[in-house]
Amino acid sequence: MRRAKIIGTLGPSSNTVEQIADLISAGLNVARVNMSHGTHESHKKVITNIREASKKVGQEVGIMIDLQGPKIRLDKVSTNLEPKEGETWVIGQTKDRDKYPEYKDCYIPTIYENLVDDCHDGARILFDDGLLQAEALERDRDVYKIKFSVGGTLKSNKGINLPDCDVSAPAFTEKDREDLLFALGQNVDYVALSFVRKKEDIQEVKNLMHKLKINLPIVSKIEKPQAVDNIEEILGVTDLIMVARGDMGVEVGNHLVPAIQKHIIRLCNTRHIPVITATQMLESMTDNPTPTRAEASDVANAIWDGTDVVMLSGETAAGKHPVRVVEMMSNIISEAEKNPKDRPLLRHIDLSNVNASVMVAASMIAEKTKAKRILTVTESGNSCRKISMFRPLTPVLGVTNSIETARKMCMYWGVSPYYIHEFDEDDFDFQKDVINKIKSDGNFKNGDKIVITRGDGKFFSRGSSNSVKVEILNDLPGVLGSDIGMEIAKDDKKEIHLDTSVCASCNNCISVCPHGIWTQTTDERKRTTIAKDKIGACTVDMECVEKCPTGAIEIISKFL
Ligand code: PEP
Repeated sequence: MRRAKIIGTLGPSSNTVEQIADLISAGLNVARVNMSHGTHESHKKVITNIREASKKVGQEVGIMIDLQGPKIRLDKVSTNLEPKEGETWVIGQTKDRDKYPEYKDCYIPTIYENLVDDCHDGARILFDDGLLQAEALERDRDVYKIKFSVGGTLKSNKGINLPDCDVSAPAFTEKDREDLLFALGQNVDYVALSFVRKKEDIQEVKNLMHKLKINLPIVSKIEKPQAVDNIEEILGVTDLIMVARGDMGVEVGNHLVPAIQKHIIRLCNTRHIPVITATQMLESMTDNPTPTRAEASDVANAIWDGTDVVMLSGETAAGKHPVRVVEMMSNIISEAEKNPKDRPLLRHIDLSNVNASVMVAASMIAEKTKAKRILTVTESGNSCRKISMFRPLTPVLGVTNSIETARKMCMYWGVSPYYIHEFDEDDFDFQKDVINKIKSDGNFKNGDKIVITRGDGKFFSRGSSNSVKVEILNDLPGVLGSDIGMEIAKDDKKEIHLDTSVCASCNNCISVCPHGIWTQTTDERKRTTIAKDKIGACTVDMECVEKCPTGAIEIISKFL
């Protein structure tokens, strides 16, 4: 099972039910709906398609809407602008263009009304993800004169970055408010905020949702230098972090991105905040069927850095091979995870919290007993978030009766949601409705262990996981499992006991005994039994006792 999760941005290459279903089958966990493009009507259609595709494939998918934030852009231009290196142009609001006929051939119109006020002499002004670069020379009434050090072609709506200026626009704009209210009505699962600078940017959105009695997790996109400086306070209020390397690269310079990525991931891991690494991870696959070696290494290194989630943008939204790119990302992650990074230190986890200590204990028990799954019963997903941050080696199934929680868990490292449909508290049988179904998935054999965590009281009760149980499978088809009692074989030196009421017929004893003392019954049940005629060959090396997962075997040596 792959542990780190994959977000894919949807767009023209991946918007239909069929396309999304293919992405889910290829390994997509969370779909990103980017509010920078499209209309509410088109987003509504995409969200409906995601839910339908998820149903079709039979797998939960989270939906993250990404609010545009105060993205500064060029306005529409009738023909492309072509500033050249060394040339001086002016930048100002579209509405002021006609006020300055002297600049009519070198006017760059922007939709951002405070650009001239926010700018200062010497500040860098970057266009189209930094492809064109200029420096602010001086203000002239309502426009700023700028000199290009790198020229190029400027098309309508291209982005503008002002890395040296304190942009006065709020992180949460009027458009964001409208988009958020729309998205809340569509039951999305995560909200990403762009161009966050300080903790108040997140608190404002939390307060708004609080008033509406909605509590969606917030992903803070770290892309401004101010956010990097304020990362500690942001971690104190956010639910997740995204290392948004696209705008970050423009704002701080690409050469600083790797170090910032590592720093933020490390901080998030120690603070137990899930972290997403985003942008240009497999960029060349937008056109090509395979990634570059450098891109494959970038994804693997993000996994080894400790990222919880990796994100695809244009590759899935507008690329030629959206399904192939998700498959490729999934394969790279799975390979990287064969060499796991060190687990977070126990001292970084607050074990005074009962829930956290139970989840850590479950994770360690599962590892030491080589359990096949941890099964965590959860209402809010909280327990799964906690165990996820401890990076358990054992795959976790987050069992919940809440579809919202199941979708939220799509973002959690190492956790697969297991949604219980049609849950009836009075008529719910955990063994029948969950364990038996999980066992029947065919990947288990007798003797396998499942570690179960849950709270007492109501079946799914919030934040209350307070017990760990180890279930040893012993009743899979073809196995006796119970009610026979004790089989005993003896000679004058020893007695071998097999408690058939707990024997799982896992056949471990058969595989470790070189003397053929253990065998299977010849009837269709093929349960484990003692080959009584071979008992004389037993050397009492106790290998079978040690390898028996259920403690069904006892050997008594009469010389001891
Ligand atoms: C980024 O800048 O890396 C990012 C993810 O944000 P957007 O795609 O909205 O530019």
